[in-house]
Amino acid sequence: MNKGRVKAVALYSGGLDSTLAILQMMKYGVEVEAITFMTHFGCDVSDKSTCGHDPYPAAEKFGFKVKLSHLGQKFIDIVKNPRYGHGKNMNPCIDCRLLMLEEAKEYMKSAGGQFIITGEVLGQRPMSQRRFSLDLIAKNCGLDGRLVRPLCGRLLPPTAPEKEGLIQREWLLDIEGRSRKRQMALAEEFGLTEYPNPAAGCLLTDIRYSDRLRDLLKYNPDPDFNDLNLLRVGRHFRLSDKAKLVVGRDEKENDLIESLRRPDDCILEVKEFGSPIGLLRGEADETVMMTAASVVARYCDGKNQPLLRVTYVGGSSDGSLETAPAGEAELAGWRV
Ligand code: SF4
Repeated sequence: MNKGRVKAVALYSGGLDSTLAILQMMKYGVEVEAITFMTHFGCDVSDKSTCGHDPYPAAEKFGFKVKLSHLGQKFIDIVKNPRYGHGKNMNPCIDCRLLMLEEAKEYMKSAGGQFIITGEVLGQRPMSQRRFSLDLIAKNCGLDGRLVRPLCGRLLPPTAPEKEGLIQREWLLDIEGRSRKRQMALAEEFGLTEYPNPAAGCLLTDIRYSDRLRDLLKYNPDPDFNDLNLLRVGRHFRLSDKAKLVVGRDEKENDLIESLRRPDDCILEVKEFGSPIGLLRGEADETVMMTAASVVARYCDGKNQPLLRVTYVGGSSDGSLETAPAGEAELAGWRV
């Protein structure tokens, strides 16, 4: 066995599995530096509602360093055109893992690491953790066998670090399947008392979010970050090929929508009653304006009135118009 310094870079989400993978290696004296990736689709430190976790408590407790890295446009590109396809929704999990590994490889080089570790568990996730996918990822990640899965590595072919004696096969575990029992027992063994519940995945695994994203990409193949962030909030309505409306569901969403407003967006609301904010983005002719106003009217507190005055600010002009609230069937036709 190699007696020199052994260092690994870990793909780290802050979740149970990736933390355990790190602790399992540290247990045998491997120095680990973690890298946490952020994207515009959650699953990262900035988004607690999906599979994103705060990576710092475990890092502080167990003494490993965490680097944050945003995948930005590179990630958007694979969401639009994944080489290995999407999962059940818009999640390009295999391409996502490959991109993260590619980035981690560069970091490994600069950090002086010898291999990369991940918290993958054979058979735990439908798209990216089937045996076929794990093999495909290992083969295509450009790491030449320097990818180690400490939680299930004993079930997989030997990796380069094992062959080189940097690590021992006995250090690796043989966890398989969707049950978390073994991970929970291991967490107890390590004294890892606080860890988040397992999450389904990033926003791209969410059916509603994916529908909105598909709609956005259909009419705007090059969305910017503001367009993507807007998908997370409110009710969405496609009013024409060139215009969509987002309506807040509560005050918090109204504030968020306002914060995402661009100079050419139009804001609609009913001043006489408690009213949501409607943000109309795109090119709006008279028909689109009337439709948008009727939708906003439908969600205001005066929705049972036959006619409501809806004000609009921004876009090409300011003003107000009178409309009946939209009916359910109409809403269903526009809703994304
Ligand atoms: S759910 Fe899939 S696409 Fe989303 S971050 Fe996780 S691996 Fe990547």
